Amino acid sequence: MSYWSSTREQRTTQLFLEETPNSCSNLAFEVFAHGIDSESAEVVVETLRFFKPRKIEVRALKEVPETSYNLIRHQYNGFLVAKWLDTLRTAKDSVVLGVLNVDAYVDPLNFIFGLALPELNLATVYVARLKINATKSGFIARIKKEVVHEVGHVFGLRHCRNKSCVMSFSNSLADVDRKDFRMCSTHYAELKNRVPCVSDELLQPPKTGT
Ligand SMILES: [Zn+2]
Ligand SMILES: [Zn+2]
Repeated sequence: MSYWSSTREQRTTQLFLEETPNSCSNLAFEVFAHGIDSESAEVVVETLRFFKPRKIEVRALKEVPETSYNLIRHQYNGFLVAKWLDTLRTAKDSVVLGVLNVDAYVDPLNFIFGLALPELNLATVYVARLKINATKSGFIARIKKEVVHEVGHVFGLRHCRNKSCVMSFSNSLADVDRKDFRMCSTHYAELKNRVPCVSDELLQPPKTGT
């Protein structure tokens, strides 16, 4: 049996499953984690709960295919990883989120913190760089922001000019650290349109004293 025809169960193991049958939405997340400790996986789950899904499943990836690794750049090709993750999903309409402790790129960028492909209902977050010069709590804060950012893209949100909005583009760790995990009111309204149940904990509080 070839690698690509092996089953999802052979390529992954289940780490976590939470179903909320009375959730107001039909949203399901299928998370695929690689090289992620349980505390970080828990942060991912907590972050996804802001979207009030009916189901969150986390599966550990046994490996990331070598065919998606670029031997010259020593990085994974973000598009190839995304396409591979798409083959692991159980349902077309669930949102797939890959959280991988590797470094990745897509041309023409030197590296990416994450990649969202809304047409595939799929996002990825690459945490290897998020660990750089980070305390544990700093690392966790970065994961949270990148998960909201990439999932926001899956729901059609675009980049924001407001540097504190989670949907602002991050070109560096300083950019990630500067932004909030929450959204500006414009982006929150747009998200609410797509995901009516979403928690208002993702909305930045209004600025005071200005
Ligand atoms: Zn982005
Ligand atoms: Zn915004």
